[in-house]
Amino acid sequence: MNSPNISGDAFAARLQALRSKTGLVDERVLQFRCAVTGNPFSVRFTRESPALRYRIAEVRAAEGGAGSGGYHQKDRSFPAKEFDLSGWRCPCCDDDDGFTICSGCGSNVCAGRTRKLPHGARLFGCHDGCGTSFQTAPCETVSGQSAPQRGLLSGPAQKKLPAPLRALTDRRKS
Ligand SMILES: [Zn+2]
Ligand SMILES: [Zn+2]
Repeated sequence: MNSPNISGDAFAARLQALRSKTGLVDERVLQFRCAVTGNPFSVRFTRESPALRYRIAEVRAAEGGAGSGGYHQKDRSFPAKEFDLSGWRCPCCDDDDGFTICSGCGSNVCAGRTRKLPHGARLFGCHDGCGTSFQTAPCETVSGQSAPQRGLLSGPAQKKLPAPLRALTDRRKS
């Protein structure tokens, strides 16, 4: 007997085959700062299937050096468990211990200044431009974008709907 229904697994396999054929992969680009140097860098994560975790595809030190702003858009939060940080290494200070979202500046900041405390907690230290330090728990979210997009800096332009006045005045005429 053959069933006409495609099982979920078969569908996922087909989708995966299609994705690898078309080269379509999920991509997330997250922005970071080095805790030691304060320099910005970005990490591109990709995954080929929603069943997989995002893996590091590319680490790029941002041009312009420390203090170059230009990144003011509001980031989204993503579950940290979607990200596989294997091979993580800060391109600025070579720290390979991951990163923390700083509560002071809101950036994803490398752990180059994070120290382990005797009772197991970790004391995160942000870069000099921020100066925040706090004890950390394993982070559950990271912030970033689902894909590089243009025009986000202009802010959310709300489309105004025309008020329905004409219909009212038309009716009054009769
Ligand atoms: Zn660093
Ligand atoms: Zn900070």
